Amino acid sequence: MIDFSLTEDQLALQQMAHEFAEKEMRPKAAEYDRGHDFPEEVMKKAFAAGFLNCTVPTEYGGGGLGDLDTVIVSEELAWGCAGMYTTMMANSLAFTPILLFGSEEQKKRFLTPFAREMAFASYCLTEREAGSDTSAIRTTAKKAGSEYVINGSKCFITNGGVARLYVVFANSAPGKGARGLSVFVVPRETPGITVGKVEDKMGHRASNTAELFFEDVRVPAENLLGREGLGFLAAMKTFDKTRAAVGAAGVGVARAALEYAVEYAKTRVQFGKPIATFQATAFKLAEMAMEVEAARLLVWRAAWLIDQGRPSGQYSAMAKCYGSDIAMKASLEALQIFGGYGYMKDYPVEKLVRDAKLLQIYEGTNEIQRLVISREVIGPIKGSR
Ligand SMILES: Cc1cc2nc3c(=O)[nH]c(=O)nc-3n(C[C@H](O)[C@H](O)[C@H](O)COP(=O)(O)OP(=O)(O)OC[C@H]3O[C@@H](n4cnc5c(N)ncnc54)[C@H](O)[C@@H]3O)c2cc1C
Repeated sequence: MIDFSLTEDQLALQQMAHEFAEKEMRPKAAEYDRGHDFPEEVMKKAFAAGFLNCTVPTEYGGGGLGDLDTVIVSEELAWGCAGMYTTMMANSLAFTPILLFGSEEQKKRFLTPFAREMAFASYCLTEREAGSDTSAIRTTAKKAGSEYVINGSKCFITNGGVARLYVVFANSAPGKGARGLSVFVVPRETPGITVGKVEDKMGHRASNTAELFFEDVRVPAENLLGREGLGFLAAMKTFDKTRAAVGAAGVGVARAALEYAVEYAKTRVQFGKPIATFQATAFKLAEMAMEVEAARLLVWRAAWLIDQGRPSGQYSAMAKCYGSDIAMKASLEALQIFGGYGYMKDYPVEKLVRDAKLLQIYEGTNEIQRLVISREVIGPIKGSR
């Protein structure tokens, strides 16, 4: 049997997230988009509502949301403002390696403080020379007695300038490539950490994206997650779990685009008729609606698989890729339906175009998602390695 209905708890969660997006995020979205400031006041409310640590299990003070719950919330929050959504969900991206590979003691030590007061965490994987190619990471972590000494830099790190905790991928066995990667939890106050350039971005301007430098940063060996050499696996397992939520954010952006476009098409009159009565416009709206529904089903299926503990990598990649692709397409179509007004910053759709673009890039570009999917689809090829 297949049942697409949400439980009462999930419906209540969806409604709560929607109301938060509508009342707290939407009214502030254009202002933060223009100013490129960190949305401190909205985040205080997001913390109070439980969104900043919603994926942390309740025993560590979090909201205890499952993966299906998380994608339901993600769609609503990104519908409100994708930039603020990114700020909130970067926490859950950083928490995931701790939840997947941390010991009980590490989970308690690192995660419970996030329940007490508003705080941010960063997932620090990307470097200037290591974007899609994680195995090229040059940041090193050298064992020195009971400590590791971290040296290197990271770029494009969400919440980098405001985080209290960094989850840092570094090479503890240089020369071993991906097999030499390890992952460490590094508190912000550790000496040797410098925040570099804060990026001026095209979209998601309500999120902080920064460069980080690590110079002789000493962390106790107890801050290593799992064991040495587990870093690459930790990065990939994290993405298998978190990519469905990026797909959900794409659904949220696409749905916002569709709703704005429907409303506008019904009121904008040309040639004596609302433009929604022209089939060229109406069919665009039909296409957008189909794609929103299809993407949501893919996102829910991926999240359901993750909740079930079943292999989900391929489906998470599909959800992320398709959800963000249709966000890009729907936001461009909405802009077209708005005509010249859509191109102006006085209207909300050009922001959606800029925001959708990032969803196709971060947490692995959509080319990398297609690589993951195609490898699964094709399987081994005789005579090639
Ligand atoms: C605003 C923002 C926030 C981010 N937040 C974080 C964060 O919090 N933490 C973090 O660690 N990273 C973060 N990132 C980094 C992001 O994940 C990377 O930008 C992304 O993985 C791509 O890496 P790159 O930019 O170096 O592009 P590259 O890897 O240099 O790719 C350039 C182009 O080549 C294509 N390409 C590369 N390899 C292949 C291949 N094998 N096959 C086909 N095409 C390929 C890519 O798809 C892309 O089109 C963020 C990025 C941005 C822009």
